[in-house]
Amino acid sequence: MVRAIVGANWGDEGKGKITDMLGEQSDIIIRFQGGSNAGHTIINDYGRFALHLLPSGVFYQHTTCIIGNGVALNIPYLQKEIDDIVSQGVPKPNILVSDRAQILMPYHIDFDTYEEERLGGKAFGSTKSGIAPFYSDKYAKIGFQVSELFDEDTLVEKVERVCEQKNILLEHMYHKPAIDPKELLETLHEYRDIVKPYVCDVAVYLREAIKEGKNILLEGQLGTLKDPDFGIYPMVTSSSTLAAYGAIGAGIPPYEITDIVTVVKAYSSAVGAGEFVSEILDEKEADELRVRGGDKGEFGATTGRPRRVGWFDAVASRYGVQMQGATEVALTCLDVLGYLDEIPVCVGYDVDGEVTKDFPVTAKLKKAKPVYEKLPGWKEDIRGITEYDELPENCKNYIEFIEKELGVPVTMASNGPGRHEMIFRKK
Ligand code: GDP
Repeated sequence: MVRAIVGANWGDEGKGKITDMLGEQSDIIIRFQGGSNAGHTIINDYGRFALHLLPSGVFYQHTTCIIGNGVALNIPYLQKEIDDIVSQGVPKPNILVSDRAQILMPYHIDFDTYEEERLGGKAFGSTKSGIAPFYSDKYAKIGFQVSELFDEDTLVEKVERVCEQKNILLEHMYHKPAIDPKELLETLHEYRDIVKPYVCDVAVYLREAIKEGKNILLEGQLGTLKDPDFGIYPMVTSSSTLAAYGAIGAGIPPYEITDIVTVVKAYSSAVGAGEFVSEILDEKEADELRVRGGDKGEFGATTGRPRRVGWFDAVASRYGVQMQGATEVALTCLDVLGYLDEIPVCVGYDVDGEVTKDFPVTAKLKKAKPVYEKLPGWKEDIRGITEYDELPENCKNYIEFIEKELGVPVTMASNGPGRHEMIFRKK
């Protein structure tokens, strides 16, 4: 059975925690898009971890963790992340890297940095992990596939050819030092030696695994609203964040993905710029939620930047779960809202005096004003509760209100950052 775990919002919904939890019953966990640009925070028996590239299944010995072909593979970072978790007492994980994954090159990070510099105040707020230049090159057909590291003649020729093109940009557009093809080739040789033990024809591996009835998890990064097609373009990421892309980014038939667990946060948070209709604009009110949010406040796992916070947005989240094709919803961070007398929920967008419940394109989104409905708070610490029926009445009402707005069953309600802080409900 193949199950995807994906986000409905701007990312940081708590996918890492859900993957870590569901990983216990899984044989294989796959990252299928993105790179080391966003983090998953995981708190388990080994400690607190912020994973960026490794799948969240690396804490189990019985799982195989795969970096799929859709991922932007930063090879030294992969090595560093493996070394880091091992040095914190985690047994060495079983890792496979697709031979079709493409390599995030050192110059992708440089170009990302230079471009943000060039744009100045109009920058995208990139994490400067090289993701946009990486995917641009992939689709411009000048990317390097892992398999090419093992084909020296092709590699030498391609390094020369790509450097020629990159150096024109470096010299004339960015006024930065040129890339030395010899040095780059040496770096790629080092990458080859690091990645060699993990390289695998993942599509074949997964075909067999599916035949054998293995439990497979696809782990998404970021959320629907950061998808390049369906998100808040252009303030999006550069690879698809949708479960549908899981089939492509891992190399499995789309119909095998039968369960799409979409993670939705009980309030909203977003890193970086971009449209965010239900954002709390009052600094004091925002700070109150920000410091209580997540496990250590709402601060980015990769950048440490304070996240923008807002109320639950039913318009964006419904769209988010619909575009994911959610079969069930995991609602996270409910415990965070226990301090509020009343909880505003954004139930519509007012665009030029007309209220809509459908998430619009970016140009209209810029004009949207939130229409709020207020629900009574439960004013209680709900951490430690394990049964749905033991939750305060107003908390259950909040969950059921959200479920109705989403139109998808909320099967899991998360009331704390820990692996087992989860209340299960029947579908
Ligand atoms: P991801 O990228 O979707 O995996 O999300 P992040 O890990 O970036 O952010 C989610 C944050 O919320 C992390 O700090 C988690 O530890 C934390 N978290 C997850 N679920 C819960 C929950 O139910 N309650 C609280 N308080 N924190 C949670």
